[in-house]
Amino acid sequence: MSQHRRFETQAIHGGYNSNEQMGSLVPPLFQTSTFTFPTAEEGERRFAGESDGYVYTRLGNPTVKVLEEKIAFLEQGEGALAFASGMAAVSATLFHLTKTGDHILCSEGVYGCTFGLLQLMKEKHHIAHDLMPLDNEDSMRAAIQENTTCIYIETPINPTMKLVDLPMIVRVAKERNIPVVVDNTFCSPYLQQPLTLGCDFVVHSATKYIGGHGDVIAGLVVGRSKEAMQEMAMTTMKDIGGVLSPFDAWLLLRGLKTLPIRLDRHCDNAEKVATELKKHPNVKRIYYPGDPEFPQYELAQKQMRKPGGLISFEIDGTKEDAQQLLNRLRLLKIAVSLGDAETLIQHPATMTHAVVPEKQRKKMGISDTLIRLSVGLEAWEDIWTDLEQALGAGKLSPTEPDRLQI
Ligand SMILES: *Cc1c(COP(=O)(O)O)cnc(C)c1O
Repeated sequence: MSQHRRFETQAIHGGYNSNEQMGSLVPPLFQTSTFTFPTAEEGERRFAGESDGYVYTRLGNPTVKVLEEKIAFLEQGEGALAFASGMAAVSATLFHLTKTGDHILCSEGVYGCTFGLLQLMKEKHHIAHDLMPLDNEDSMRAAIQENTTCIYIETPINPTMKLVDLPMIVRVAKERNIPVVVDNTFCSPYLQQPLTLGCDFVVHSATKYIGGHGDVIAGLVVGRSKEAMQEMAMTTMKDIGGVLSPFDAWLLLRGLKTLPIRLDRHCDNAEKVATELKKHPNVKRIYYPGDPEFPQYELAQKQMRKPGGLISFEIDGTKEDAQQLLNRLRLLKIAVSLGDAETLIQHPATMTHAVVPEKQRKKMGISDTLIRLSVGLEAWEDIWTDLEQALGAGKLSPTEPDRLQI
């Protein structure tokens, strides 16, 4: 498939040729653990890597392969691997890039379990890390050590939506040839393409926008170099073995077709809800890269196609007030995760970031009254009506709550 086709077209056709699969419009589901060899000699050739056929699904599967090729196209990488979860993708990448004695430089906020993984790597394997704001070249240069073998970034950072300037990171990393990894879960390749900005690896929790329907846990890694991805396939993927099941790959292929149109709607809805939230007297502050008053609004415009579907906001009050707000919701679902059709709301201090020590949490800007919203695909007016009544100054007429019980 030509790299020149547009994103929306690649999301549907990329990585798949129906003529090679008996004309099946949709990629077939190869739900098999192993593959037969016509002869013993062919088996020998496949194990020796001299023949292209499949061997065993942990080493490769045709359905999973379509997904890997499609995501590689969409991120403009040379190769990709699919994993059983976002964390399997993150851990495979970090173990690929480090050995005992090395050092990882990280953006200040990382996903809670990535934070847990970094702790584990430090305690069990003596792989050190530093979490830094990475907001200017000089402090970044000072933070890089002799043994730094990986720079690991999330942008926007969950849940405060702080951005990291990727071209700046790449500039400094290249001086020392240190690979840059970006967790692109919050954006998906439709909103941000770190490899085109010079980063080396992209990881995804495909559980979120890429799957998009809340029915699969999956992870993806895309690399700028084919060799690096082949090496990862034969080491941290094959030997640690957190591979994606063919059925889950098939679900992701289904989700990916509508990624651009879903994200357009997520982004439109988020913009409208953010505008209302910002005006509400009980909302102290919003964190949304599309807000013209967002401190990094310009960077968001430069680095991302659109500001995304996530909004965090702080309410006036206490932790209990934040919890009560969630309890008053009728349509919005209290749940972690993001990127689903359903609008999801959560309380980072007691949920996604409960594992982060309080002091560190406060430093990251996660107060007890901060709430994170993953804006879904419902009519935005219904999302806002529910939020508004829960915020305490609702204008609901008595009949409206019933309408929301759909
Ligand atoms: C959810 C998430 C992960 C972990 O992904 P799983 O699929 O849950 O293992 C990693 N990074 C980010 C930014 C996430 O939101």
